[in-house]
Amino acid sequence: MVSTLLVRASESRRLEQLATGNVAARGLARRFVAGESIDEGIAAASGLVDAGRTVSLDLVGEHVTSEVESDRAADEYEATITAMAERSLPSGVSIKPSQLGTGLDADRARARLSRLAEAAGQAGLHVTLDMEDSDTTEVTIKLVEELHGEGHTHVGCAVQSYLHRTPDDVERLNELGASLRLCKGAYAESERIAHRDKAAIDEAYRRCTTALLERGTYPRFATHDHRLIGFVRREARRLSQPTHAYEFQMLYGVRTDVQDRLVDIGEQLCVYLPFGEAWYAYFMRRLAERPANILFFLRALTG
Ligand SMILES: Cc1cc2nc3c(=O)[nH]c(=O)nc-3n(C[C@H](O)[C@H](O)[C@H](O)COP(=O)(O)OP(=O)(O)OC[C@H]3O[C@@H](n4cnc5c(N)ncnc54)[C@H](O)[C@@H]3O)c2cc1C
Repeated sequence: MVSTLLVRASESRRLEQLATGNVAARGLARRFVAGESIDEGIAAASGLVDAGRTVSLDLVGEHVTSEVESDRAADEYEATITAMAERSLPSGVSIKPSQLGTGLDADRARARLSRLAEAAGQAGLHVTLDMEDSDTTEVTIKLVEELHGEGHTHVGCAVQSYLHRTPDDVERLNELGASLRLCKGAYAESERIAHRDKAAIDEAYRRCTTALLERGTYPRFATHDHRLIGFVRREARRLSQPTHAYEFQMLYGVRTDVQDRLVDIGEQLCVYLPFGEAWYAYFMRRLAERPANILFFLRALTG
């Protein structure tokens, strides 16, 4: 209930203005967001790479309302890719399709994405399309298919175990040879199309894990859930998949103790590293995943 309210609050422009103008709230957001500039994102990425992780840099922002904003996001992503390439930072970027304008002019959005896929490919970087709310699932998967058709086989997307359709999507994308990120899903979806029960979401995650380890291309397991992490590791051993055939992914600032442990035991870990000025919606979804954090946030906003 609290989580659903927080996810809905993440879509409120008024709350966004209140939060982003508040110094204390900005300070709190820094736990989950590396900073507002590309330089800050790159500095945090370098630190993580020095500590044995790889990174997927994410310029925060979504659902832009103009072509100008979409162009600006694409330019910033291109500058980020260039900066990563200059410093030989592994391993890629995460992009929200709606940030490049898929909700506006679909052709122009695809052209921006093609341009970024080209730049990332030349820099040897992987591109993951984040999966947003269920209105965008099919659009996102089709984008991956089209980009593969153009030869950009280093582009994949996230899939969400809470959606009923996901096992079919995993098979469809496995056949294409796309590298997928498996996560539980962070949006408020209806019972009609998504599991709402934690046990069912976890069971779907396990089923997709097996499908990805058996038939997928370099799967990326995005979770902080220690039971699922244990399952992925056991399943990889059972299927004779070495640790370099897959990776774990975790969010910047979340369960860093688990991140350390995974690196210590020789697992590959990629940190999803957000930066940028439009951090509000991303931050609110992180609060929704752990409502205990909300009290601190409300105190910061009102105090
Ligand atoms: C790398 C990465 C990329 C992602 N990309 C997407 C995407 O493209 N689309 C999408 O819908 N979702 C995405 N997510 C979010 C995901 O769907 C879940 O909402 C989120 O990861 C929480 O689920 P969990 O698997 O960690 O399990 P949970 O059961 O929610 O959490 C397990 C444990 O992790 C800790 N934890 C989890 N979240 C937090 C937090 N915010 N603050 C503090 N502790 C926390 C807690 O200790 C909790 O008990 C991504 C997650 C990761 C890690």
